[in-house]
Order: sequence, then C-alpha cells, then structure tokens
Amino acid sequence: MSFQNPVFIPGPTNMPEALRKAVDMPTLDHRSALFGEILVPARDGVRAVLQSRAAEVFLFPASGTGGWEAAITNTLSPGDRVLTARNGMFSQRWIDMCQRHGLTVEIVEVDWGEGIPADRFEEILTADSGHAIKAVLATHNETATGVRSDIAAVRRAMDVAGHPALLFVDGVSSIGSMEFRMDDWGVDIAVTGSQKGFMLPAGLAILGVSARAMAAIDTARLPRTYFDLRDMAAGHAANGYPYTPPVGLLNGLKESTRMLLDEGLEAVFARHHRIAEGVRAAVRAWGLPLCAAREALYSDTVSAIRTPDGFDAGRIVAHAAEAYGVAFGGGLGQVAGKVFRIGHLGSLTETMALSGIATVEMAMADLGLNIRLGSGVAAAQAVYRKPGAAADAVA
Ligand SMILES: *Cc1c(COP(=O)(O)O)cnc(C)c1O
Repeated sequence: MSFQNPVFIPGPTNMPEALRKAVDMPTLDHRSALFGEILVPARDGVRAVLQSRAAEVFLFPASGTGGWEAAITNTLSPGDRVLTARNGMFSQRWIDMCQRHGLTVEIVEVDWGEGIPADRFEEILTADSGHAIKAVLATHNETATGVRSDIAAVRRAMDVAGHPALLFVDGVSSIGSMEFRMDDWGVDIAVTGSQKGFMLPAGLAILGVSARAMAAIDTARLPRTYFDLRDMAAGHAANGYPYTPPVGLLNGLKESTRMLLDEGLEAVFARHHRIAEGVRAAVRAWGLPLCAAREALYSDTVSAIRTPDGFDAGRIVAHAAEAYGVAFGGGLGQVAGKVFRIGHLGSLTETMALSGIATVEMAMADLGLNIRLGSGVAAAQAVYRKPGAAADAVA
C-alpha cells in the first residue's frame, strides 16, 4: 500500500487534511466547559445531516456495530419480534446480533443484489394485527452488494398497514453521502459510524433517536450498560459523558458536519451521484455486470461488480494492493469471490475516482480478463468532463 494513494474501500474512507488535523488534539478535560464547545456543535451537526429537527443525537465510543446494539437493547425486550430483510452481509450481521440478544427475527429472504421488499413488509405487517412485531430493521445501503433500498417505501408500507412498530435504519454507508431524511421517512433510530460519510477514523457510533424510540427505553428489558441511552442522555444533557469520551474524534465530527453542511447536503449527494455515475459508466464499458439488480437500486457510495464465472474476484483486490498500492473491497459472505467493490464515498473527487478506475483496469488486464486499457477511464471521463466550462474559459 502507498499512503499517497486514495483508498477505494467502502469505509473507512479517505480523510481530508482538515479532519486529520481536527482529530489531532492536545488532552482536554472532558469535564470542563471547553468540551461542550465540541460536543454541542457535533450533536447539532449530526442532527442537521440526518435532516431531523428534533432527534436526540448520541455519540458512543464504538463503531457502527455498537450503534446497532444500542438501538435494539434500549428499545426491545427478550423474545420481541422484529421484521427485516436479508439481502447482504450487513443485514445478515444485524440479524445475527438480534438473534444473539434473544429477539425473534422474522426474516424476508431476498436475492443478494435486490433491495428491501416494501410490498412484502406491508403484507406481513398487515397480517400482524396483534402488533407482535415491535421493530422493523432496514439496511438503507447494503454495502456488500451496492444496493440502496427505498426507506420512504418501507415507511409507507408501515403506514398503510397501520402498524406501530418502530423503524430502525442502518445508514452506516449512506448517511452523509446519499439522501437520508430521518423525519420525513419517520425513522425512529438512525445508526451510522464516523468512518464512512463523515470521513473520520473509526471510533464513533452515531445515533439519531426519535421521541417515540426514547419513550420505549423505560419499558425495554434487554440488558444494557455501556450502551444505556439513559446514562448517555444524562451525560449529554450536562454536555458530558458517563465515561471518558474520545475528544479528538468528537472534534473531528464537529468539523466534519460543518464541512458537509457548508458544501450543502444536496451538493454532497449530487457529488456522490456524479462520481458513482462515472464508475458505473466504466463498469459498463468493461462489460461487467453490477451486483445490484436494477438501476433504481444502484448505490451512490459503493459499486459491487461481478466478475466472470470461475474467476476469483478476490484476485483483483489482492493484485491491485500488491502491484499498485491501491485498496479496493472484496466480496463478503454469499458473494465472496464473485464480486469486487469500488467504494466511492466520503472525501472523493472525480479526479481521484479516475485514478481508481485506471488502476483496477490495469489489475484486471494483468490478470488476463478481457479488459481494454482505457475503456473504463474513457467512459468515466465522458461523464466527468465539463467541455462547456472549458469553452467559456477560452472565450
Ligand atoms: C460498515 C458498515 C457497518 C459496520 O460498521 P462498523 O463501523 O464496522 O461496525 C454496518 N452497516 C453497514 C451498512 C456498513 O456499511
């Protein structure tokens, strides 16, 4: 690996210099008023990025996985039913966690490459007239397959069924990069981490919690201590923590949310879409299919690309790392060896994306795949170039 090259894994993402500096702080007394000047804007910034007016924001020292655990242990009781779809490795891991916590998970099996079937959810929730299902779990962006599901459609399905279950959304690889509307979609708990859209090192589990989910805390009986939202709420109310917080990361989050909001969320989403469109143009030029089954499911943060039958996709990742010092993502679970992944989220420009496309093209050609050098780069250039602007400059 070379530290000069950007990474193209779907998290952790590339860190802007300003955020690396923000994270690098001298020791500060987290019980002093100074800490509030970091925590308050960090929490307000996250709430704005979630497009929520009133969500309670909690920042745990953990990774995104800890956020899943905080969501379920604070709101559910042993034996409670939850409804979810399994369409990739991340939805699978959340299911596994629920089962290990003694929850009864109703799983809708979906082909890896498909999204959450809101129509099936509607049928199941309508049939659940006794409201035994306490929560619906949705992975917004399945990072293993490059599939974005329609959370607004999941919310509509719940509303049409008139079902009162809570809606928990894993937005670890979408929040801060793709449209996410916590309030408009009626999300009760949104979960993410610091190392993807927020462009920071791993180490923070970030949660937005609705008033309805907060109200479920007192009756929920799953054991929790470190992740108890009541302790954290008491800490945050006094601009502090029930234990020692990672001050540098929180300072990074304060700066990161400011960067995202200064760029403008719509502009951030548009940038990710444009970069993703270039990557997808390259993939088409290579003649390789995406794992995502349809255009409506295409993720703007990660593309999982299928390689020809009999070819181990992991070889591309290994060769790109070894020969060119560039990191791409491998396949996970059911699609291990069948796909490789290009992460295109976080701090990324079109020029950086072109370097990744050019590199993976070399790696594939080196390994004997039928890839014409420059084909993907040219296709992405056609998406990225701005001839009008150049003409203006000359004139
Ligand atoms: C990365 C990721 C996670 C796991 O986050 P960690 O920070 O590694 O615990 C969960 N869900 C999705 C969709 C992810 O992309």
